[in-house]
Order: sequence, then C-alpha cells, then structure tokens
Amino acid sequence: MNKGFNAFEMAQTQFDSVADTLGLDTSVRELLRNPLREYQFSIPVRMDDGTIKVFRGFRVQHNDARGPCKGGIRFHPAETIDTVRALSMWMTWKCAVVEIPLGGGKGGVVCDPHNLSAREQEQICRGWVRQLARNVGPISDIPAPDVMTSAQHMLWMLDEFEHIHGGHHPGFITGKPVGMGGSLGRTEATGFGVVFTIREALKELDIRPDDTTVSVQGFGNVAQYAIQLYEQIGGTAVCVSCWDQADQKPYSFVKKDGINLEALRGITDRFGGIDKAKARDLGYEVTDGDAWIDQDADILIPCALENQITGENVSRISKQVKVIAEGANGPTAPEADQALKDRGVFVIPDFLANAGGVTCSYFEQVQSNMNYYWEKDEVLSRLDLKMTGSFIAVSELARKRKLFMRDAAYVIAIDRVAQACRDRGWVI
Ligand code: GLU
Repeated sequence: MNKGFNAFEMAQTQFDSVADTLGLDTSVRELLRNPLREYQFSIPVRMDDGTIKVFRGFRVQHNDARGPCKGGIRFHPAETIDTVRALSMWMTWKCAVVEIPLGGGKGGVVCDPHNLSAREQEQICRGWVRQLARNVGPISDIPAPDVMTSAQHMLWMLDEFEHIHGGHHPGFITGKPVGMGGSLGRTEATGFGVVFTIREALKELDIRPDDTTVSVQGFGNVAQYAIQLYEQIGGTAVCVSCWDQADQKPYSFVKKDGINLEALRGITDRFGGIDKAKARDLGYEVTDGDAWIDQDADILIPCALENQITGENVSRISKQVKVIAEGANGPTAPEADQALKDRGVFVIPDFLANAGGVTCSYFEQVQSNMNYYWEKDEVLSRLDLKMTGSFIAVSELARKRKLFMRDAAYVIAIDRVAQACRDRGWVI
C-alpha cells in the first residue's frame, strides 16, 4: 500500500531469517515461503447509476497443514496481490502461535467502501463468494472481517454461500452479526487481545498500567477497543490518529490529559474517521497525521496498516516509549525493527499482539458448529487465557534463547507449521 514497499518481500525476509535459525530443510522452506494456492478474479457489479464496474478480487491460501485456512477479507483501494500474500502468510503464523487448529489465508477486493452504497458493497460481497464458492468453506477456508469490512459484509457473504450450496453453513465465515451465528465478544476481541498482551508485557517490565500513557495510530475497530480496555486497566490514551477521507490524508488528535473515548466515538464515522471541527471544539489539538509516532508516551499501538514505522521515522519515537504493541498487521518495516531492537524497546509482534481476533473467530466457529452460544464473559475469559498463555510461552522462549519477542514468536509458529507439514508427509 506504500510506494516501493512490498509486504510479501518483507514477510518472506522475516521467514528466511527464522528458517536459518531453525535450520529448516530446503523443501520446507520452499513450501512455506510461498502460498499453497492463489485465486485472482473479476467481480462485475451493476452500480446504482446503471453502469457496470469491474472490481478485482483475491483470495490467497498460504498453508493449511494445521487446519483449514483462516483469515479476513480487506476492502481497500490500494490492495494488491502481494499484500494479500503477505497477510495470508502472517495468518498462518498467527494461528500457529496461539495454537488454534487453523491455517492461514487472506482475501481482498480493490475498492473504496467510502464511495460505495450499501447495495453496491453487497454486490461485491456476493460476487466475491460466487467466484470462490467451491474453493472456500467451513472445512477448507473460512473468511472473516478485516480492514473496511464488517459483520454485515460477512452476513451477505454467508447468505450467498448458502444460496449456492443449499442449507445452513454458519461455520463458513466468522465475524457474523450476533444473533446470526456471530459470537459475543468478536467485535471487541482484536483490540482487547492487544491489551491482554500489553498487560502481560507491563507485568514483565514491572510497570503499573496506571502509570502509563499510550499513543495510538488509527481509530477503527481494533484501536477503539484497545483504548477501551487499556483505560479500564488504568492507562491514559493521549493521542489517536485517523484517516480523513475528505482531505485524503491522516490527522492526529492529541489531548495530553487523556482523550475521552466515548466523546470521540460520538464524532467518528463507521470507518474510524474523526470529525476535525467537532474534535477541536472538544479541546483536541488536531495536528499532522504522523504526530502519533513522536508523542511522549510509554506505549505505542499502531492499529492501521502495514509499513507505518519505517527506517525514516523510527528515530522520531520518543525515548519514553518502552512498549510497542502491533495491533495492525506488518506495521513495522525490518529496518525500523532493527533500530527498535538496538534501543531495547519491547515489541509485541503483530501476529501475537493482534491474534485475539482470529482466536475469537475460532471460538465463533466452535459455537456455530455446536449451534450453542456462550455468554460474553465466557468468550472473553477464554480469550484472555489463550492470549496470556501464548504471550507467556513466547516471552519464556525469548528469555531462554535470548531472542527478541518477534523472533521468538516466529520460532514457535514456524516450527509448529513445519512440523505439521512433515507429519503429513508433505516434506522431510
Ligand atoms: N482479519 C483478522 C486478522 O488479521 C481476523 C482474521 C479472522 O478472524 O479470521 O487477524
């Protein structure tokens, strides 16, 4: 999504370096550094003005040795096949590191929902499923929401899938609306999961959450629920940033004594865009989009897109920052990652920090398959258990082998997937 940056090359580079650490055999490397299957297709849609527009769609299935492929579908104007490839690979590691029996997949459509009516978006969802109906499903590949897709999109997709195949197949897709096969807690799950890992990191660093401040990039679903739980455990959010569709650029909203989450939510659209004028009236300083990165805060949470902390801007990160929790997928470029290692910043890597979403998706599938739905408390306490246990396993390995958190998480995840491929007899 950024010029000159290729997310798939970044994902492969990360993989190659851990493959060296693990001493993986060439056959496993070749299998895992590329997706198993890829689908690219066109979705013709009759627009509200009567014209036909053709949208480009993708689904990439990176690996299903540990279970059916799993991963969201993004709607974004700058989507590319390489970004989807990278994200599908990261999903494989994400499911493996939290030890849920699923593989990695990802989908996308090149489109901007800001400029599409609900009916046009419904047609894109239905068209996406029509192109893939035989290649996805509850036992092969299970989609979910991601950037700019919601429970409503998932329900349209489920409905189309059920029209094609007949019967009810609620296990086909997750992130469905509650009451239509969705799980309580799924909406909150990714943001809450990020904060479960922050809570554990702070324990390790012997810092009380009440004494900390956070600066957040993004104000969509993940960011909003991360801030909500972070405030509940005692922290103060001092800055959020978001994309401004009208100006086609981001802004940061700063309030040194702490933002008011509910008030901000009240002036935010469904894409996470905050109304600048109303924010100023509420006393926020509205400033540059990347000001979130140089705030004097203890914790940074990038919750937007990939390649946001880069070789160019990493030096702007305040000396005060002790923890970075990656709510987004791939927000830190490898050069920046190295600089953060050198500075001793505690980075909770994306595929661990934001695994709460897919973990709750797994719970949703379990509930859908049983056709019996749990109370919200049960969902969230299982989520906490899974995230905390996974965090501790990674941090113990990091300590034992003197690795950074990202490398330790990769060692655990890649080892599990490689073992599954060997056990199945795919490679030696
Ligand atoms: N799109 C989310 C992610 O990147 C959730 C995927 C899922 O629930 O399957 O992890």
